Amino acid sequence: AKAAGRGMLRFFDPAMQRAVEERSALEARLRDAIGGKQFTLYCQPQFDADLTLTGGEMLLRWQHPERGLVGPGDFIPLAETSGLIMPIGAWVLEEACRRVAAWRDDPILGRLCYSVNISAQQLHHPDFVQQTLAALQGADLPPGRICLELTESLLAQNVEDVIGKMHTLRHHGVCFSIDDFGTGYSSLNYLRRLPLYALKIDQSFVQDEQSEAIVEVIIALGKKLDLHVIAEGVETQAQLDGLAGKGCQAYQGYLLGKPMPLAAFHDKYRGR
Ligand code: C2E
Ligand code: CA
Ligand code: CA
Ligand code: CA
Repeated sequence: AKAAGRGMLRFFDPAMQRAVEERSALEARLRDAIGGKQFTLYCQPQFDADLTLTGGEMLLRWQHPERGLVGPGDFIPLAETSGLIMPIGAWVLEEACRRVAAWRDDPILGRLCYSVNISAQQLHHPDFVQQTLAALQGADLPPGRICLELTESLLAQNVEDVIGKMHTLRHHGVCFSIDDFGTGYSSLNYLRRLPLYALKIDQSFVQDEQSEAIVEVIIALGKKLDLHVIAEGVETQAQLDGLAGKGCQAYQGYLLGKPMPLAAFHDKYRGR
């Protein structure tokens, strides 16, 4: 009772009250955004060791009527706590499948694989496998053209269920990578049991000279487990050279290409 009393007092603190109001206003605007077609996907190119384009990562943007382009860092956390990530995530998957399918006749873009970020709640939902396959089938897109990016923290609960879902989707051809690798729970034990295509080295390690040893360990782990290793957030030539020297095979970052609208991605990288 005492704890509840303290909670009530806090609620009537004006700053706290304002924060609660702002939160629910943002939540309402997020709901409008879903209905009002205010979301859009950007794509950031990914490259192999020869700097040949290998695909791209689909990144969500919110085209807000007054505030302009809002990045996912400003609304994904609330979307996750409010449950709105379910309709938003479904839209992202469907839109990514549609847009990638539309590039099918391009001699370059029509062969590559594109990543989509998946939140924990999406993967833990009982219908996730069926919804993902429906999005692919709805767009008539071969499942191997999409790679789902998961974070390590996803494996903190329902591990067996998650592993089962991943194997089912993998069986259909869908690829998986572990995002922000090294920043989460690092259940190295599970790594062998997951049908993974790649590990993505978190940009905090790529950008910090003190983290060289960690980068080396992740690259070595990838080699041992026969996984692709992608370095994220490569911003400078020195970082690229350092990674290449350590045997990294794939890169993503502002140095090589920023996230851009899909029409711009198509104009820039399509086959001619
Ligand atoms: P992430 O999956 O780790 O995506 C990489 C982020 O790093 C992107 O930020 C990208 O724009 C940024 N980035 C890429 N290269 C560089 C670089 O060289 N330097 C720096 N400083 N940053 C770079 P963005 O687009 O703001 O996305 C932030 C996070 O939001 C993503 O992190 C991802 O966790 C989440 N997110 C984005 N789209 C979706 C989505 O459709 N669904 C879900 N669930 N989460 C998403
Ligand atoms: Ca990602
Ligand atoms: Ca990442
Ligand atoms: Ca991240």
